[in-house]
Amino acid sequence: PKDEWEVDPSELSLGQEVGSGQFGLVLEGSWREKKVAVKMVREEAMSEEEFIEEARIMTRLSHCKLVQLYGVCTQRSPMCLVFEFMENGCLSDYLRARRGRLSQDTMLGMCLDVSEGMAYLESSNFIHRDLAARNCLVSKNNEVKVSDFGMTRFVFDDQYTSSQGSKFPVKWSSPEVIKYCKFSSKSDVWSFGVLMWEVYSEGRLPYEHRSNAEVVESLNAGLRLLKPRLAPDAVYLLMEWCWKEVGTGTTCTQSPMTRPTFI
Ligand code: ADP
Repeated sequence: PKDEWEVDPSELSLGQEVGSGQFGLVLEGSWREKKVAVKMVREEAMSEEEFIEEARIMTRLSHCKLVQLYGVCTQRSPMCLVFEFMENGCLSDYLRARRGRLSQDTMLGMCLDVSEGMAYLESSNFIHRDLAARNCLVSKNNEVKVSDFGMTRFVFDDQYTSSQGSKFPVKWSSPEVIKYCKFSSKSDVWSFGVLMWEVYSEGRLPYEHRSNAEVVESLNAGLRLLKPRLAPDAVYLLMEWCWKEVGTGTTCTQSPMTRPTFI
């Protein structure tokens, strides 16, 4: 292989379809004795050259609470991305399937798993840009791991990438992202607050009956998601802290006036 992250197609075997997403089909497979998930990238779905440039950095990000990108197979068309396999699928479906049966310890543990993965990303100066329960996956032993970090940068569909687009994740986005596309670890923290809300709402959609435009309007008016019935007061306080407007530059970064950090 010409590069450390290049997956040799002869070492990769492909199996059944396990899902499909923004970039195309996801298959289960195996690679070097490991069960893997293989994302087959639909042509014209991804800016492939830019992704390959970034693949080196992304394969080096390695943490037990991140879904590992093992490598990329560029010698085949379609190009495919090889990830650690997560037996229990995405977190939003997992939560919905277990409604009424999730203990307080389980829900807090899920939030903690995600915050650990995100603390690693923040300390690596890597911004997720699309943190949500649908972009976290659950392992065989029910650990939650953060997935799809940084991937929206390579999506071609501008309905998804433009904050005006119909598929833009407005309901997970901070005001500064909606207004000026200013992504940062602080905007990831906002999204983390929404993810905590999803966990304690057992996988419900935030602002379920409201349009994106209505959400933007109510955020501007200072309104926020309400406390989920299952969330303890201390957890809801943390959510509200994640949903502060970012300071104007004069406040100390650990002040409760601004958002917390993951680290
Ligand atoms: P995309 O990022 O291209 O939109 P997703 O990451 O949402 O695609 O993947 C689509 C579906 O494929 C997920 O909902 C999940 O069911 C399955 N999937 C994705 N990655 C994995 C993985 N690493 N292990 C197991 N299943 C996966």
